[in-house]
Amino acid sequence: MPAMTDTHPAIRVSEIFGPTIQGEGVLIGLPTVFVRTGGCDYRCSWCDSLHAVDNQFRHEWETMSIGAVWQNVLALSGGRPMMVSLSGGNPAIQPLGALIERGHGDGYRFALETQGSVVRDWFADLDVLVLSPKPPSSEMTTDWAALEACLQAAQGKPQIVLKLVVFDESDYAFAKDTAARFPRLPIYLQPGNHTPPRPGNEQAPVDLEGIVKRMEWLVDNVTRDRWFEARVLPQLHVMLWGNKRGV
Ligand code: SF4
Repeated sequence: MPAMTDTHPAIRVSEIFGPTIQGEGVLIGLPTVFVRTGGCDYRCSWCDSLHAVDNQFRHEWETMSIGAVWQNVLALSGGRPMMVSLSGGNPAIQPLGALIERGHGDGYRFALETQGSVVRDWFADLDVLVLSPKPPSSEMTTDWAALEACLQAAQGKPQIVLKLVVFDESDYAFAKDTAARFPRLPIYLQPGNHTPPRPGNEQAPVDLEGIVKRMEWLVDNVTRDRWFEARVLPQLHVMLWGNKRGV
């Protein structure tokens, strides 16, 4: 029988790893395999994944067929269906629709996290869509029309949640504004890591004490404001493994 050819566009991959647990947001604690794509249309001041963002790391990224990516996921999960998290960079800039279709065929589920700057019709095929607009401390500007278009593209099919990183008062105000714009979406807040890894130096220590202080401040703010719809969570992987990659 002739070999099947993968006619779908290839995916730029920074790393595939797991199973580990999802460290943040709505799926926190859930065993997950991560497919981290390479490239991002943003450059957040505190990005903790620069190795998957900055072009200087392009040589570490691999252009892979859908079949090759899927073989990696199958090998890591032992062929047992589980959650696959599509992250980046901005995974929305990659053609991931066929991968999702392939994985669903094997009984896997897919979550994708994006800042909401690039709209894809295959958002409707996801199981979980995490929209994570970036607050002022990122030095990025949110395109609200694009974020709204992401919601439209999802057609209400996946579970859709908001996740906001908060470093300071203006980020907190931004989170409240975002919640007011999208009152029907569950919102998850997390204290930012102000000691993110520098590429090539994943051993750089995190200021856990500082992060915990920010978490306490966030809880105080939410309870003071009687913002009872917000959920405040730490980044569990940072607490467990610091800045280490591939966990
Ligand atoms: S959107 Fe995410 S991956 Fe892209 S630069 Fe910002 S924090 Fe990094």
